[in-house]
Amino acid sequence: MSLQVFGMPVSRGVAIGRAVLVATGRVDVDHYFVDEDRVDAEIDRLHRARDLVADELAALQRELPDDAPPELGALLDVHLMLLRDETLAAATKAWIVDRRYNAEWALGAQLEVLARQFDEMEDDYLRERKADIEQLVERLLRALGQQPSALGAVAAGASGDRGRGGDPLVLVAGDVAPADMLHFKRSIFTGFVTDVGGRTSHTAIVARSLDIPAVVGARDASRLIRQDDWVVIDGDAGVVIVDPSPIVLEEYRFRRRESELERERLDRLRHKPSVTLDGEPVELLANIELPGDAAAALASGAVGVGLLRSEFLFMNRDGDLPGEEEQFEAYRDAVVAMQGLPVTIRTVDVGADKPLERMGLHELRREHTLNPALGLRAIRWSLSEPGMFRQQLRAILRASAFGKVRILIPMLAQGSEVRLTLDSLARARQQLDDTGRAYGPVDVGVMVEVPAAALTIDRLLRAFDFVSIGTNDLIQYTLAIDRADEAVAHLYDPWHPAVLQLVAQTIERARRAGKGVSVCGEMAGDPAFTELLLGMGLRSFSMHPARLAAVKQRVLRADTRRLAGRIAEILGDDDPAAVVARLCSAG
Ligand code: PEP
Ligand code: MG
Repeated sequence: MSLQVFGMPVSRGVAIGRAVLVATGRVDVDHYFVDEDRVDAEIDRLHRARDLVADELAALQRELPDDAPPELGALLDVHLMLLRDETLAAATKAWIVDRRYNAEWALGAQLEVLARQFDEMEDDYLRERKADIEQLVERLLRALGQQPSALGAVAAGASGDRGRGGDPLVLVAGDVAPADMLHFKRSIFTGFVTDVGGRTSHTAIVARSLDIPAVVGARDASRLIRQDDWVVIDGDAGVVIVDPSPIVLEEYRFRRRESELERERLDRLRHKPSVTLDGEPVELLANIELPGDAAAALASGAVGVGLLRSEFLFMNRDGDLPGEEEQFEAYRDAVVAMQGLPVTIRTVDVGADKPLERMGLHELRREHTLNPALGLRAIRWSLSEPGMFRQQLRAILRASAFGKVRILIPMLAQGSEVRLTLDSLARARQQLDDTGRAYGPVDVGVMVEVPAAALTIDRLLRAFDFVSIGTNDLIQYTLAIDRADEAVAHLYDPWHPAVLQLVAQTIERARRAGKGVSVCGEMAGDPAFTELLLGMGLRSFSMHPARLAAVKQRVLRADTRRLAGRIAEILGDDDPAAVVARLCSAG
């Protein structure tokens, strides 16, 4: 029976595939297909891991002290019994043989099936045995990590890879952390659905940058969708259709083809100069996560990088932070790859929904902090780790010897932060001078992400060379809505007059001061806002490469004078979106 699950559309397009349910926290487990002639070897790996865990459990049992609580011994017995139970072993093997999943993936798949069965049990005692299975699978995964696979991660799947029989796959999870999203860059999944998350959560942002259809905040999706179900992800409407009827499937295949054709049409605009109907040149820049994304930025026709989110270099490293040399090489690679075009490197913005495994003394993890979005985040964290901050500044400065580099400071709002930031920069320059290291001239900009920064923009403009408006956070902090919380996602409104007023005022003041101003939040990549932002005087937009052509199409058709004289009227209206739509269609 077909079923629909509703969530938030965060990355456009249609994906059709079989569901792969992955438990939260296990998204980074390797998922790849084993070749037919490697199936037996993969089963051997599984057996070896099983033997290892059996030895481990037996040793634990032997070493139990006499005064250990009897429950402990009983627990180990249960784990050993589950390990020997053929239902887990045989079903896991079946995923390897029938689907050619690697052993880790097969285990995860079977765990999800069993977890569902346990959840449905009436008996409390039996239902609680789910935790035992989970712990056991955890042990098996660790043991598998010690059994190198013949294929390793090499086969971790070029994107677009398909399951046996040619079935494409979509990932269904409770949550996917932004750091785990990086695995998607080389993953086999063609779309994903999560239970939690908001439209501008970093998970959603990375999905958009990968340009794969995604729905987040679908609440019960991972409970309602079963392993291997056929699902359609409608990334435009935010709907997931489970087990679609043949007619619905046909309709979505048609829509998928339509959106591919639209993409091809837009692609032709790639290298067209970005100039409005009334002759105003508009700079379209790219947002990237890693230096390797520079190629996609160039290919999209971007004339530079407006935002390199450097924190992604700090993720997935088990708490080990990248040193100056490693950072320098990464930034230099991005600069060289951009072939003389400017690269704006934002200093590390961790915290909130981008926790690190280790955040220094403060051990800042989302779950350990009361209000992570209001806590030690972005420049606040950098200033609390001055050695680390100067190291990053030196690495960025050194990269500027290879091309045009700009530094961007996230989430700054206080006068004391301005002084400390500029002092750190002066010291970083001094340290490079002292050691004879080369660096070039670098403009330093500030992000306007907090209402306090927008309201005191004149002060910031005196201290910095340019500003970049981070609308994702500006909306979050203006409306007091956690951008990653699906429970309040319906109140996260980029059209709210308060938000628009702050954006308009920042653009106007920066222009008046003769300083560069750009928008690098998701608003810049949303064509619905293009003409409004142009009317406010914006001439620089930074967005995911995948959004660039659609925004350029709007720029080419826009007359910047059409809305320029109507901004006060738009901001004064209860429904600015409707006014903009009316004025644009009237023109
Ligand atoms: C923003 O807040 O708009 C922004 C671009 O920064 P991030 O999304 O990384 O917080
Ligand atoms: Mg931000």
